[in-house]
Amino acid sequence: MPQNLLDFDLDGLIAWFGELGEKPFRARQVFHWVHQAGVADFAQMTDIAKSLREKLQQQAVVAPPAIGYAHTSADGTRKWLFDVGVANGIETVFIPEEDRGTLCVSSQVGCALECTFCSTGRQGFNRNLTVAEIIGQLWVAHHGLKTEPNRTEPNHSVPNHSVPNHGAAEISDRPVTNVVMMGMGEPLANFENVVTALGIMLDDHAYGLSRRRVTVSTSGLVPAMDRLAERCPVALAVSLHAPNDALRDQIVPINRKYPLRELMAACRRYLVHAPRDFITFEYVMLAGVNDAPEHARQLIELVREVPCKFNLIPFNPFPDSGYEKPRSETMRVFREILQDAGLVVTTRKTRGDDIDAACGQLAGKVADKSGRVMKRMHKETV
Ligand code: SAH
Ligand code: SF4
Repeated sequence: MPQNLLDFDLDGLIAWFGELGEKPFRARQVFHWVHQAGVADFAQMTDIAKSLREKLQQQAVVAPPAIGYAHTSADGTRKWLFDVGVANGIETVFIPEEDRGTLCVSSQVGCALECTFCSTGRQGFNRNLTVAEIIGQLWVAHHGLKTEPNRTEPNHSVPNHSVPNHGAAEISDRPVTNVVMMGMGEPLANFENVVTALGIMLDDHAYGLSRRRVTVSTSGLVPAMDRLAERCPVALAVSLHAPNDALRDQIVPINRKYPLRELMAACRRYLVHAPRDFITFEYVMLAGVNDAPEHARQLIELVREVPCKFNLIPFNPFPDSGYEKPRSETMRVFREILQDAGLVVTTRKTRGDDIDAACGQLAGKVADKSGRVMKRMHKETV
């Protein structure tokens, strides 16, 4: 099997080049070609000695996950479905805004944490994504969008290619300015691969994104939050969704292991290292479940000692979810209680509805339940 170079950060590539008897500066050159120029074909790496290019052609590939399809929503939101050989694949979403372009990246196929309102959670866990599959989502989006002239035109489909087209006119040098690990999966449950991929996103030899522009979203894996603070303290979003343990135990089951008191303490510890001086708390609004004024008042108490911002997300429905999003009046009352207490609150706009790119819809319309069944069987046999 040829080595996929997208699996390496720069140190890893240098070490692998060492095994080939090649110098570190050669690894740096190739790293630039791959991540900065978006070149997958070694023959195009013109300043690399021909003998090395031939060696690479025999022993290596630059292989992002294969694109199943790419589609653009009426509001410019772009969604890719990648075929990773299992289940329905994984999805990546690009959200263009005036001053930024945000890429929402997946970290796992499915998710084991089974939050009750999440279609990925309902799908069950299939497997962790490799480094190449995680960074490959950015590679495809970044280089694909860079060379695509009509990228904000509605309903513009691109052909099925996984190698960017370098013949086309360049629109922008930097279509992706921000990355959020908010696609499928729990990023901190795939810790090593996610941290390596984050390192490549931040590396000036690759994408050079600042730590503030890269956000990891977690449902609250406390020990891994501490490790992330040590290893790669990017911006942190925490999926709170409930203001007390009784409710959070039900809708975010990982809370039974790491209850709110421990989670809040971990948030405070994280901020000692973090590039932003606040945590973003995500709060999915579920009608009749967590949207009462009393919940808002409890939240104010809960986060009293954590510098934070709130992001209220209206629930995105999916078939048989059993949940509904609150009425806008209910959301307004909830938001104003938080704001009156001095908290900064944003309400997430729903983007890309027409292509199922909105939050929690990333598992696709027909969830493959086999992962879930396998997990159950596993539980029963151990
Ligand atoms: N596993 C991580 C990151 C992926 S989910 C986490 O849970 O934080 C990204 C965000 O979308 C999380 O805040 C998640 O709770 C939210 N989400 C999941 N399902 C949703 C739905 N149906 N509607 C709205 N938001 C949802
Ligand atoms: Fe997993 Fe996040 Fe969905 Fe919970 S909300 S099941 S942690 S992807």
